[in-house]
Amino acid sequence: MFQKILIANRGEIACRVIATARRLGIVSVAIYSEADGRALHVALADEAWPVGPAPARESYLAIGKIIDVAGRAGAEAIHPGYGFLAENADFAEACAAAGIVFIGPPPAAIRAMGSKAAAKALMERSGVPLVSGYHGAAQDFSRFRAEAERIGYPVLVKASAGGGGKGMRVAAGPEELAAAIEGARSEARNAFGDDRLLIEKYMTAPRHIEIQVFADAYDHVVSLFERDCSIQRRHQKVIEEAPAPGMSEAQRQAMGEAACRAARAVGYVGAGTVEFIASGEKFYFMEMNTRLQVEHPVTEMITGEDLVEWQLRIAAGEALPLSQDRLRVRGHAIEARIYAEDPAHDFRPSTGTLIHVREPPRASHLRIDSGVGAGDAITPYYDPMIAKLIVHGETRATAVRRLAAALAQYEIVGVETNLALLRAIAAHPDFARGALDTGFIAREAKTLLAAPAGETADPVLWAAAALAALADARRERAAEAAASADPFSPWNEAGAWRMNGDGYQDLVLTLGEETVRLRIHPEPGGACRLDLPPMPMVCPMGGSLRAEAAEDAEGGMALRLEGVLHHLRVVRRADMLVVVRGGCNHVFHVADPLAPPAGEEAGSERLVAPIPARIARVLVKAGERVRKGDPLIVLEAMKMEMTIVAPLDGVVENVLHGAEEMVEEGTELVTFAAPPRKSC
Ligand code: ADP
Ligand code: ADP
Ligand code: MG
Repeated sequence: MFQKILIANRGEIACRVIATARRLGIVSVAIYSEADGRALHVALADEAWPVGPAPARESYLAIGKIIDVAGRAGAEAIHPGYGFLAENADFAEACAAAGIVFIGPPPAAIRAMGSKAAAKALMERSGVPLVSGYHGAAQDFSRFRAEAERIGYPVLVKASAGGGGKGMRVAAGPEELAAAIEGARSEARNAFGDDRLLIEKYMTAPRHIEIQVFADAYDHVVSLFERDCSIQRRHQKVIEEAPAPGMSEAQRQAMGEAACRAARAVGYVGAGTVEFIASGEKFYFMEMNTRLQVEHPVTEMITGEDLVEWQLRIAAGEALPLSQDRLRVRGHAIEARIYAEDPAHDFRPSTGTLIHVREPPRASHLRIDSGVGAGDAITPYYDPMIAKLIVHGETRATAVRRLAAALAQYEIVGVETNLALLRAIAAHPDFARGALDTGFIAREAKTLLAAPAGETADPVLWAAAALAALADARRERAAEAAASADPFSPWNEAGAWRMNGDGYQDLVLTLGEETVRLRIHPEPGGACRLDLPPMPMVCPMGGSLRAEAAEDAEGGMALRLEGVLHHLRVVRRADMLVVVRGGCNHVFHVADPLAPPAGEEAGSERLVAPIPARIARVLVKAGERVRKGDPLIVLEAMKMEMTIVAPLDGVVENVLHGAEEMVEEGTELVTFAAPPRKSC
């Protein structure tokens, strides 16, 4: 076994690999970019070496620098994690040339599976079933059109070099084919530097079922069973589980054998995943990922094996730790990927500092893999995944319940997250039944993305925000009084109750669409009465509630409202108070009660970059007339394209930035000449 390894990655996967290395007594060497000096993986590793600036190209993808650090640190092997250099055959070769073991398959196997088209041709010859499609060399439109006719619409146009759901477009009919090819081609060129495409029959409502395989250098190949990754958005996985619901033993065996055949066909060694698209009992090869997979923890939970340990042993020249007949499925595991993204806005990534993070309490059936914590930033440079939450249960029903419960205890403030969406999925009856397919999120979007019902109608939330705001005001006054020259001045009375004569304090709070003026009267012993004005939902006639707040054992707020005790947390964020309850964030704005009402928000027609991004394409010119909703600019951030559309009918006055420029969040992109006046 190795004495010392380097981990050429960051975030949760780097932390994950370090954990196994430590358990096995292997010294771990981390690398880090300028954006990651204080990252968790850097703190956890035995050594951490800087490799360059924040952009991945100059650090985590800089092959020469990484090999150089490995040599200087005396690492015998490099674990690439996933993403970055994990499927880069040149990197695997460079490791070998430097006398360092690449913890992954041989470069030839990476190459063979690197092109989806070439891999499909190879699988066809090995008797692995394929979805009908065209994966030939000819790339002219007439050929694609003819093949699409033959296959039958709808068809899926895919980048042959694709990954992470990028470079994929559906054409429902012949009239959509040209645009689909154009879109997939340009995305592929930008993301992978290779614009070759293939087309496949687009299956409606299929399942994504993949097989985890492992091979050693002694001709042994085993399947560590399947994972169902059908819960996806934008063709990217969000929830994965093992085993696949409803999988028969016969199908498991058939898919496992097909996957092992695929691995053997390319002389595979190490961990790999063969992805299939499945419909009923039928399944078809999609691609093979020649690396550890993001969702490998669910396999670890049902097999009780450490897949990173398997990788290390095999890379060190050992045989597979277990043969097929010693592998068993135990119970059920589900993983939810927690992303910094905004599901309500087409899942666009959200950047910022994690002001508050609180993970659910540890338990043996629960695992959290994360590379960030409170105080860390989600930057536009890397993947926006915050954490993976993995639960295990003896049955799927138990696992689903545990998933829902753990999600309700996960608290994140500072960036938008998909937590509410995940909770909605966990609570959905179809998910509970195991009726999964890849169209689930898109089809159920309306239900899944609905705002928390009756948020503004919950007096507990108003009371929590009010008492927190009051506590803040008191603290501020106490601090001011302490700093003041005359601490005994009546103006500095910390309670400030007397200021209002009969002792009350007014607060104006806004939650969603609702703005409310509350009056708080103190009562002896720290409690108070909270006067709520008539609010149609909360208290139609207005009312007065007895409230008392204290810090609870978890550092949160124990709020007693009319005698009923509630546990929640209030996090301060600029002029906002975020009340976190049941995994849900309720954002209150605290207004100065004396300030005039806010006017209309100015500049709603300014077109700005919603997040820091690179301009991928500019689709309009100054002077061009556009209609509301027309695409203007395509941005790329966090490996994802985002189209900025016209907010109104009008004429483009100026395009302020060109393709390839990097823009900060809030940078104005396009200005409009005054929109044409509507005639009366
Ligand atoms: P899967 O492994 O299930 O196929 P992905 O396609 O999402 O899922 O996995 C590869 C992706 O992992 C990369 O495209 C990248 O976005 C993401 N990734 C890369 N490095 C890391 C990291 N350190 N932490 C989290 N995610 C990462
Ligand atoms: P990537 O390399 O981006 O992971 P894949 O080929 O694995 O690309 O496909 C990603 C996802 O796209 C699949 O999990 C599935 O949801 C969807 N998909 C791929 N091929 C098809 C198809 N032929 N029909 C329907 N959906 C598909
Ligand atoms: Mg895939």
